[in-house]
Amino acid sequence: MAAELIDGKEIARKKQAHIGSEVQKLKAEGITPGLAVILAGNNQASRTYVKNKQKTCDKLGMNSMLIELPESVTEQELIRKINELNESEDIHGILVQLPLPSHINEKAIIEIISPDKDVDGFHPINIGRMMTAQDAFIPCTPAGIVEMLNSIGADISGKHVVVIGRSNIVGKPAGQLFLNEDATVTYCHSKTADLKEYTKRADILVAAAGKTKLITKDHVKNGAIVIDVGMNRNEEGKLCGDVDFEAVKHKAGFITPVPGGVGPMTITMLMHNTLKAAKLSISKI
Ligand code: NAD
Repeated sequence: MAAELIDGKEIARKKQAHIGSEVQKLKAEGITPGLAVILAGNNQASRTYVKNKQKTCDKLGMNSMLIELPESVTEQELIRKINELNESEDIHGILVQLPLPSHINEKAIIEIISPDKDVDGFHPINIGRMMTAQDAFIPCTPAGIVEMLNSIGADISGKHVVVIGRSNIVGKPAGQLFLNEDATVTYCHSKTADLKEYTKRADILVAAAGKTKLITKDHVKNGAIVIDVGMNRNEEGKLCGDVDFEAVKHKAGFITPVPGGVGPMTITMLMHNTLKAAKLSISKI
């Protein structure tokens, strides 16, 4: 029996429609949510991501501002720019597109962003709030994964979730969110001995390793929910995930495609966070 497809595009479309109507309500109160994106250097993939973020802002009636800085930008210049944006009344969300040029300390830069404008949810204050289950800006990809599962009515409480990957952006916060939802969480990573031993016991399997076809049908329990976060290029240059989709779809209960799965949810949750930041700014007036 084939797995049911989790249509990230459609779930994202519905969520964005809701965000768009909330934006209109805020505008009626005289506030237009504004997102500033800082792009430093010439990374082509980053440029494409940034363009998509701006396009989605436009579509939902939000303002977006792109600040392009050269590869040679200094840490001091970057800090000065972020401080200006921290002070701006028109900018509610600040996103520094990663990776930054190698001479810049990413961790130090993230800490300069005001936690109340940290729409990527990478600031240690937001991470700490998330860990202690307080209201916080949640990193967009993990937030999108949980949103997807909620939208298909998946039960998370008491389930065994196996997360492959322990990055600060995806794996670690994804596991933490599932823990907050009362799941039992196992993290696997590049040093995990015998990955399959863990993955085949997962009710919900989240693959965020960035390795094409890492997950075969032997890694998956019958009927499991399989969330493929990977964004890789195969030999033909086609976008693909970490999961061998064609094989696993016959064993999983639900599965996300790549493209059209987690990707559209990530950008949607960025819009959600920007709207949240704009609402937060009202409560501070
Ligand atoms: P990363 O390189 O920072 O982390 C990868 C993680 O996978 C590491 O923790 C590593 O230990 C683990 N890993 C690597 N090889 C492994 C293996 N063979 N077995 C088990 N674990 C292994 O990457 P990231 O930023 O967390 O992103 C992961 C993937 O998700 C990438 O393909 C990235 O492009 C994609 N991504 C997609 C979205 C989206 O919106 N769809 C967003 C962010 C990242």
